Amino acid sequence: MRVFSFFTRASRAFHGYPFGSKLLILSTLSSGGLVAYSESQSELGTPSGNVNEIEPRKKRVVVLGTGWAGTSFLKDLDASLYEVQVVSPRNYFAFTPLLPSVTCGTVEARSIVEPVRNIIKKRKGEIKFFEAECVKIDASNKKVTCRSNFDSNSLGNEEFSLEYDYLVIALGAQVNTFNTPGVKENCHFLKEVEDALKIRRSVIDCFEKAVLPGLTEEERRANLHFVIVGGGPTGVEFAAELHDFVEEDIVKLYPGVKDLLKITVIQSGDHILNMFDERISSFAEQKFTRDGIDVQTGLRVTSVSEKDITMKAKSNGQVHTIPHGLVVWSTGVGTRPVVRDFMEQIGQADRRILATDEWLRVKGYENVYAIGDCATIDQRKIREDISAIFEAADKDKSGFLTVAEFQDVIDDIIIRYPQVEHYLNSKHLADVTDLLKDPEGNERKEVDIEGFKLALSQVDSQRKSLPATAQVAAQQGSYLSRCFNRREHCKKYPEGPRRFRGSGRHQFRPFQYKHFGQFAPLGGEQAAAELPGDWVSMGHSTQWLWYSVYASKQVSWRTRVLVVSDWTRRFIFGRDSSRI
Ligand code: FAD
Ligand code: MG
Repeated sequence: MRVFSFFTRASRAFHGYPFGSKLLILSTLSSGGLVAYSESQSELGTPSGNVNEIEPRKKRVVVLGTGWAGTSFLKDLDASLYEVQVVSPRNYFAFTPLLPSVTCGTVEARSIVEPVRNIIKKRKGEIKFFEAECVKIDASNKKVTCRSNFDSNSLGNEEFSLEYDYLVIALGAQVNTFNTPGVKENCHFLKEVEDALKIRRSVIDCFEKAVLPGLTEEERRANLHFVIVGGGPTGVEFAAELHDFVEEDIVKLYPGVKDLLKITVIQSGDHILNMFDERISSFAEQKFTRDGIDVQTGLRVTSVSEKDITMKAKSNGQVHTIPHGLVVWSTGVGTRPVVRDFMEQIGQADRRILATDEWLRVKGYENVYAIGDCATIDQRKIREDISAIFEAADKDKSGFLTVAEFQDVIDDIIIRYPQVEHYLNSKHLADVTDLLKDPEGNERKEVDIEGFKLALSQVDSQRKSLPATAQVAAQQGSYLSRCFNRREHCKKYPEGPRRFRGSGRHQFRPFQYKHFGQFAPLGGEQAAAELPGDWVSMGHSTQWLWYSVYASKQVSWRTRVLVVSDWTRRFIFGRDSSRI
């Protein structure tokens, strides 16, 4: 929170200053977020049938995935305490928030990726990495089956299995097409680095196609109609990037087609960026209108063909079809097949997303953790434990809870059930003991069990599920590594809240998410940001804040230097429109 308010203040302070001084401040700020890795060597591990033949002294940890969650877990893990094996089909970590910038060449793909081996070699202790895909999680036999990415002609085992004592599932999510016909075949996605590169080539293709001889104006227009389905942060940022790319670089190279170009954003809800503050979504809509980006709301895409996209208006059911040159589908995420299969094995088939407890353990499996986009925390309802809480708090067993008795347990309650704090904030209650007041707002000396149930009856309505963001995934990864590092210590000295059902304390504090705010870059060197404490910041200074934060969040100095130099290159020379 403090970091962000500092950034806001800083960004305001240097709004209106010349470019040189901004760059200076930017580079100073960037160094603040350095993630330093300690130096140590790791050997190359080879997946083979006998990987687990020798009984290891240390507990075996298998990590699936090297995205935000997996990497942040590995970055902070004391690998000397465990035998760690990592499996991922991509041998790099990708800084996804800059993927939209890769689609138009504002930033190069290699500037936003860091090889996994670079990250793990710097850890204390040995970590083995296998470039493979996990195809099966077998929780009852504590093993995972993996398949290497290489074709069957090359040497090496195609399929192998790894046994674990602890499993960390950090597999992320996949694009959700909602089974809309034609989407898989005819739309671009923006999830992986490869997707961004494909979009970059296809955008240029559309312009080259549009200037070929012998096309009617209508055909040229169709080729230059870029449609973005989904008005969330990714869709909006891509639309803004594309608009800047075209305005700043492309029109100079293809002067004849400038007036034929159109960018459309299709959103099923009533507004774009509807997960942001209202002020931000209306600022974005106004900016897009000024820029000539067509925002169409209240429409559901029903099918996409090679040349057309068909939509249905939610209000009156009217269907209409428009031609397109390129469609980018960006409408949220769904569960990967390997996670879905695991959910079916463990009795979570009826859930949309894998559920964990507040300690990020898959429900019912103490040694399996799931972090990041592939899972959600199923926050326990206070209602389920209310009698146990009352009984534990009523120390003198009087059948009544006094304010002092309540105060005695409140810290543990707030840690165990974070919805209590959300509830107090939503009701603007200054003190938790306000909960014990009677319905007229008068103080009470004590309440009985029924009064206590009534006082807390609305609290569970404030249970919130966390968004699928890098911020959540990274915090979960580092939380979990801290638990792993302190496992032995906390066995002896538990640091969690007291157990209301049962005795003693929980070994660890539950995971607690801290929201540092979120950004929406809107193009033309303008951005919007929602910061903690209901702060909203919009315009050019926010874009500078965005540059500072995203430079500081890079995982290594190497990528930080590459990204900042890409931005500088773009300022000086513009973007490169070669189709490579
Ligand atoms: P991922 O980062 O997706 O990582 C999943 C990992 O699992 C990958 O390494 C993958 O290769 C691996 N994997 C996949 N299948 C298998 C398998 N079968 N076996 C083994 N490994 C496998 N969030 C923000 O907070 N701010 C932003 O500005 C932002 N911008 C975004 C922009 C874009 C274009 C996108 C796509 C996302 C953005 N996000 C942003 C969301 C953020 O990227 C995700 O929430 C985050 O990546 C989730 O982290 P994760 O580790 O759960 O999953
Ligand atoms: Mg009492």
